[in-house]
Formats: sequence, C-alpha cells, structure tokens
Amino acid sequence: MKAQPVASHFIDGEYVEDTDGSVIESLYPATGEVIARLYAATPAIVEKAIAAAKRAQPEWAAMSPTARGRILKRAAEIMRTRNRELSELETLDTGKPIQETIVADPTSGADSFEFFGGVIAAGMNGQYIPLGGDFAYTKRVPLGVCVGIGAWNYPQQIACWKGAPALAAGNAMVFKPSENTPLGALKIAEILIEAGLPKGLFNVIQGDRTTGPLLVEHPDVAKVSLTGSVPTGRKVAASAAGNLKHVTMELGGKSPLIVFDDADIDSAIGGAMLGNFYSTGQVCSNGTRVFVQKAIRDEFLSRLKARTEKMVIGDPMDEATQVGPMVSYDQRQKVMSYIEKGISAGATLVTGGGIPNNVSGEGYYIQPTVFADVTDDMTIAREEIFGPVMCVLDFDNEEEVIARANATEFGLSAGVFTADLTRGHRVADLLEAGTLWINTYNLCPVEIPFGGSKQSGFGRENSLAALEHYSELKTVYVGMGKVEAPY
Ligand code: NAD
Repeated sequence: MKAQPVASHFIDGEYVEDTDGSVIESLYPATGEVIARLYAATPAIVEKAIAAAKRAQPEWAAMSPTARGRILKRAAEIMRTRNRELSELETLDTGKPIQETIVADPTSGADSFEFFGGVIAAGMNGQYIPLGGDFAYTKRVPLGVCVGIGAWNYPQQIACWKGAPALAAGNAMVFKPSENTPLGALKIAEILIEAGLPKGLFNVIQGDRTTGPLLVEHPDVAKVSLTGSVPTGRKVAASAAGNLKHVTMELGGKSPLIVFDDADIDSAIGGAMLGNFYSTGQVCSNGTRVFVQKAIRDEFLSRLKARTEKMVIGDPMDEATQVGPMVSYDQRQKVMSYIEKGISAGATLVTGGGIPNNVSGEGYYIQPTVFADVTDDMTIAREEIFGPVMCVLDFDNEEEVIARANATEFGLSAGVFTADLTRGHRVADLLEAGTLWINTYNLCPVEIPFGGSKQSGFGRENSLAALEHYSELKTVYVGMGKVEAPY
C-alpha cells in the first residue's frame, strides 16, 4: 500500500519539495509498512510558506465575505464528493477504521467549510454605538498570517477546523500537521485550490517539534492555534507570548463522565464506550474517568464487559472493523505502560489489557481495556493515557462526585447521565470544563463551541466563537461637531 504525495509541502498553490529536510517516514499503523517518505521543512521552506501567506492575505481580506464563503462552500462540496478517497487516506494516515473515517473525518471537515462559508457574510459584522451626536462603530478585522499546528488523532478534521474559520475571517494560514500523520492536510490544500481559493492562502508544511518553533517564533505570524498535549501547549503559549501573539490552545484532558443510578444504563454504557474506545481511545475529550453510582456498579460493569468483548478488532480497511490500531508503536507502548501501572496499583482489570491475537503482529493494536475499583490517587486516574483504557470509579452521592470530578488540573470536557432533568443541569453547571454533555457524550458538531478550561487550554474552535479567535475588534469614534479644546 502506498500513499506517496506529489511532494512534502504545499506552498503558494503548488507542491514543493526540499530534500535537505530530515526524512519523515509515514507508517501505516495496521502493518507498520512505510507508505510515504517526506521531508521536514527547512528554514527556507518555512520562510517561503510564511511569505506566500503574507503576500496573499490582504487581497483575500478585501474580498466580500460572500465571495470568500462561496469558495469555502465549494471546498466542502468537493470534500463530500471525494469522501471515500479522503477517508481511505485518513485510515492509512492514522489506522482508524474506515467505518469511522467514512462518517467522521472528511465529513466533519466539510461541515466546517460549509458552516463558516455560510455564516461569514453575517459573522464578521460590527456594532453601531450611538453617543448622543457623535457615534462609534466597531469592525471585526482579520489578524493576518495564522499558524495551525495539528495532533495526529484527527489530521483532516484539525486542518479544517483551523483552516475554515481562519480563511472565512480573511486570514491566510500555514498549517503543520503532526509528523505522525503528514498526508491528509496536503489533500485539503489541493481541494481548496480546486475550489478556487487564491494561491498562498492555505499552505501546508511538514515537520516535527523542531519545526513548530520556527513557525511560532516568526515575526510575521499573528496567531498560533495548537492542538496537542499540555506540555507542548505550555511551550508554544510561552513562546507566542514573547511576541504577544494571539493563541488558541486545544490541549489534553482526563474528563469525568458521571453515571447516576437513575440513568438509562444502556445509553450510559454506550456513551462511556464511545467516549473511551472511539478512534482507539485517541480522542482529547474522552470521558476516561467513569464515575458510576454504587447501586448500579455491578450491573454497569457486567454489561460493559460483555459489550466491550464483542467489539470487532481488525483490518481498518474492512468496513466491519470497529477498533483499529493505535497511531504508532511508541503510543502503544505508552498505553501498555499505563495498563501495567493500573494493575500494579491494585485496580481490577475487567477486560482487555493486552495485544489482541487476531491481528498482524506488526500493527500497533491494543485491546479495549476496562479497569474497575480505580481510586482517585492512581496514576491511571490522574494522567491522560490517550488510548482505549477506561477507568471506572465508584461514588455515593452528588456532592462527593462533583468534588472528585473537579479535582484535576484538566478541564476539557465532562458528561453526566441521569433521568433527573434538574440534576443534569445542576451537575453540568458545577463541573469545571469547557464542553459538557448531558445524556450523551463526545458529540461535537460545528455549530457548537469546542475547547477547554484550566490546563486543557483556551480559545474555542467551531461556531461563531471561532471567528472571534481569528479576528480582532477595531473601534472607530466619529466626531460630528467641532472639537472643544480647553486650550
Ligand atoms: P504533541 O503535543 O506531541 O504534538 C502536537 C503538535 O505540536 C505536533 O504537530 C508537534 O510536531 C508539534 N510540536 C511539538 N512540540 C512543539 C513545539 N515546541 N513548538 C511547536 N510545535 C510543537 O501532541 P500529539 O501527541 O501529537 O497529540 C496528542 C495530544 O493532543 C493529546 O494530549 C490530546 O489530548 C491532544 N489533543 C487535543 C485536542 C483538543 O481539541 N483539545 C484534540 C486532539 C488532540
């Protein structure tokens, strides 16, 4: 299987290569096979990409919002027409099953272009402020050149979630995908050109943790939007602060999912499984601390175990497969080491915990894993594992569970399952997180804001809120009379 792109980078409307960069091998996680060889951006490539963006941006910003939106909506249509091809590429890039990528990845990227293409004509309007004779008005203006840096779990979605609002608001973007998943973003860049986007406005360059700083520190960059881990977020935010750049930080989590004893238990188990095993657990907002009220604990665990053991693990290109491999060997090893920590700390291994035996030994597979009897102080309950490992914790009452759920440095997401309407809203109100779900989990349509609080980051993606993070307010005061100076 090969997925070699035309070249490593896409700058100023065309593919560009520079073989002086260090080699990035793209591996298919299901087999470990090398499917593409690319080169990390050299400083010359970084300069070229930023210069192209800087050159193209003013003319784009001067176009009418409707004209900009039309191009983005056309890109959405092309993505939908090519959904199968893009989904297969996403599966090769990440190892996620085609059953998921065909409904979740290019589709949500297309939603993003469609949404921002549609709302932009009204989304950047300002305000008229009467001042009794004089008046003022505000306008939303683009920031200029924005940098997007992506994680490896949703490469196409992340490129679109950053690119669509940035472009809609009149900015240009240089996007760097994760070194683990370099392929998808190049296709998004190609499609935008096909849709009529003027060249230079959406550029993709490859690279790793040594390339990112070249972008973040560049004086011509006005904004950095990062999706990644908390340690990376701290470094990027600190470096961006040096030049007072705008930042959006979409970082990690250890989110609580609370199941009260009056909940619809099948829905709660379904929500917990989706919120721990979808994309082989590589989802930032996952509800990895599942708090289950004691009265239903045994029933919850036995039904959860039965449903988990029926999940189909295998070849990601087979449409029947529900669980694919992890993105990389290193990530699988990291998750295995957390499983060992859980066992040695005394948590009960309910199911999983190992490498499945029905799959290729070269792929980075791991079984969906459930731990019970997890306590708040265990490492597996405190740190982000970023793999298919669910921790089930018991609780007695509402007050106690809210305090325990909030006792974390993270604040990305949270969920509550209950049949009691007032309790659902009360608990959602008290949980410290940026995105919350009542009686469902992990749904993130483009219409709603998404992002974290506490150490999980700041800024919001999706919805009209994202436009605010890719623009700034300009206020104009208009004097209608003579200037009355006291001197
Ligand atoms: P990571 O932090 O290792 O890398 C993220 C990106 O940052 C990569 O492109 C990497 O090359 C780049 N990078 C690394 N060091 C950098 C530096 N010093 N300067 C600039 N760029 C740098 O994260 P990962 O392992 O790729 O992804 C997993 C993490 O991402 C998890 O913590 C997960 O929770 C988080 N995530 C968050 C969201 C969200 O929306 N909140 C979504 C997906 C993933």
